[in-house]
Amino acid sequence: MALYRDQGIVLRTYKLGETDRIVHLLTQGRGKVRAVAKGVRRPGSRFGGRLEPFSHVDLQFYEGRNLDIVNQAELITPFATVRSDWALSACGSTMVEGADRVAQEDERSNRLFLLLLDGLRTLAAAPQFPAVVLDAYLLRLVSLAGYHPYFDACSSCGAPGAHGVFSIAAGGALCRRCAPPGASVLDPASRALLMALLGADWAVLGATAVEPRTRRAAGALVHSFLTYHLGKPLRAWDLVPR
Ligand SMILES: [Zn+2]
Repeated sequence: MALYRDQGIVLRTYKLGETDRIVHLLTQGRGKVRAVAKGVRRPGSRFGGRLEPFSHVDLQFYEGRNLDIVNQAELITPFATVRSDWALSACGSTMVEGADRVAQEDERSNRLFLLLLDGLRTLAAAPQFPAVVLDAYLLRLVSLAGYHPYFDACSSCGAPGAHGVFSIAAGGALCRRCAPPGASVLDPASRALLMALLGADWAVLGATAVEPRTRRAAGALVHSFLTYHLGKPLRAWDLVPR
């Protein structure tokens, strides 16, 4: 069996048999990898608690026919603070569920890997508004998946400007001429926040001081946008306190 090494982030785990687990990882070099960690649920397992969701690990695998087998796992960052706090954990769970949805097996996506790592690192710093960090991650995730939303030009005709209508189906803001009847209004505060979610530095996102109403409206819009373009809602999103 061929042996390979990669770093990855644990997306989710399932029990397998009496003592094993199936682990879904987002790796840097091979996209999504599904692997078996043998004996991981036995006390004193050599993997210890290293293969928990959110853990950033350096791994060695044996290539298998269906599932690969984890041979070694060394922790790079455990992100234990994200696991132990209820709100951070809800945000982190939504992040890994989103990555699991978008990532493909055997398809390298370094940008997706780094996006998830940035998102988890920002959560681990215990931001004031973790849901804003999550919304930024989700909006960038949909953009990476090929549905980049435009907020500074009309998504239909390209006319630049701070347009006041948003259409999920059209993929962003629309000018007055292109807006269909009954399209949802995009108020200036929500538009500014959405632009920050897409482009601002991670460090400032978690302390973005905006009205709670605007935060919730932008968050709901991000999730509707994601659900429309990726096909179905993320289950963990409902657990995020807002
Ligand atoms: Zn237009």
